[in-house]
Amino acid sequence: MIYLDNHATTPVDPQVVATMLPFFTEHFGNAASRNHAFGWAAEQAVETARQQVGALIGASPKEIVFTSGATESINLALKGVADMYGDKGRHMITVNTEHKATLDTAMVLAGNGMEVTVLGVDRFGSIDLDELAAAIRPDTVLVSIMHGNNEIGTVHDVTAIGALCKAKGVLFHVDAAQTAGKLPVDVNAMGIDLLSISAHKLYGPKGVGALFVRRKAPRVRLSSQMHGGGQERGMRAGTLNVPAIVGLGAACAISQAHLQSESARLTALRDRLFAGLNERIVGVTLNGHPTARLPGNLNISLEAVEGESLMLSLKAIAVSSGSACTSATLEPSHVLTAIGLSPEAAHTSIRFGIGRFNTEADIDTAIQVVSEQVGRLRQCAVALA
Ligand SMILES: *Cc1c(COP(=O)(O)O)cnc(C)c1O
Repeated sequence: MIYLDNHATTPVDPQVVATMLPFFTEHFGNAASRNHAFGWAAEQAVETARQQVGALIGASPKEIVFTSGATESINLALKGVADMYGDKGRHMITVNTEHKATLDTAMVLAGNGMEVTVLGVDRFGSIDLDELAAAIRPDTVLVSIMHGNNEIGTVHDVTAIGALCKAKGVLFHVDAAQTAGKLPVDVNAMGIDLLSISAHKLYGPKGVGALFVRRKAPRVRLSSQMHGGGQERGMRAGTLNVPAIVGLGAACAISQAHLQSESARLTALRDRLFAGLNERIVGVTLNGHPTARLPGNLNISLEAVEGESLMLSLKAIAVSSGSACTSATLEPSHVLTAIGLSPEAAHTSIRFGIGRFNTEADIDTAIQVVSEQVGRLRQCAVALA
């Protein structure tokens, strides 16, 4: 089976696995053990990883806090700011196409006295910068916007948003789970104060991530959401998951080394897939932005075809549909409805996530099997009508 669902998760790069392995059995020390070589080796490996994560996003190693993934990083950023800046104001701004980790956290904060403005998007999934500027108030403490969207691939202009936040003296958090290691990220050039990363989206292990917390201009203060041994400068207590952190560091270094060439390769594969599908299937529409989008992302709606049925009929390729199975009902994705798709149109959508280990042959197979199945499903529909 060909894996084309790299926005959901990615396989761990074998080089990353090899780097991690000694830290399970040989260098198994607690990075907080100051009294012996086992602890020192673990601590040194963690510091190397901290430097590798920082280097990928243009941050100092001291600004990296290790977490269990982007969900935790986002929770720490939003709740940590809400706690520490309550005296300055109790208003934050986010967008309706964000990942649930952001939207659900913002809703919890809203239940605790924070006022949350949720901006809408246009049909490409982009925000209006003037609308954002107008939404920023004297009591706004945080703007939280993702870099690249995990469903429709739309990339926000974080540099412009960062400049706006800087000018207004508002903290800016970026969910970079889909872009770190895939698109250039520079926290200084982009005016970013907090940034969330997930290892399993960039060919590292699951259950580990990082939060960038700016230390200068301004020095961002966060309240810890996890209390205990005071690890991570008191921002995230708990014994560090050394093998996973080593894996995250290695994954960042590998991604950084191949960022330009890999993003060009994925863009070419994505364009080949779109062109091939368009050639063989009528009624294909692109969801998301035509140009400002993630290199490996292709989200399309296929007229008169149930995305869910298509996905299940594709035995040779693993993809995602535009609906999330929640219990018995098929809820259309909140992102697809945010860009104006009707529930029916959202149900005809399918998402391809092309990644590091996909080849041109994979794409050609996908074009063939998808066009075959779309033809079959449409014939069935005509026969039934
Ligand atoms: C995957 C993802 C997350 C959550 O990351 P985890 O590490 O799985 O918790 C958050 N935001 C975006 C955009 C994602 O793609």
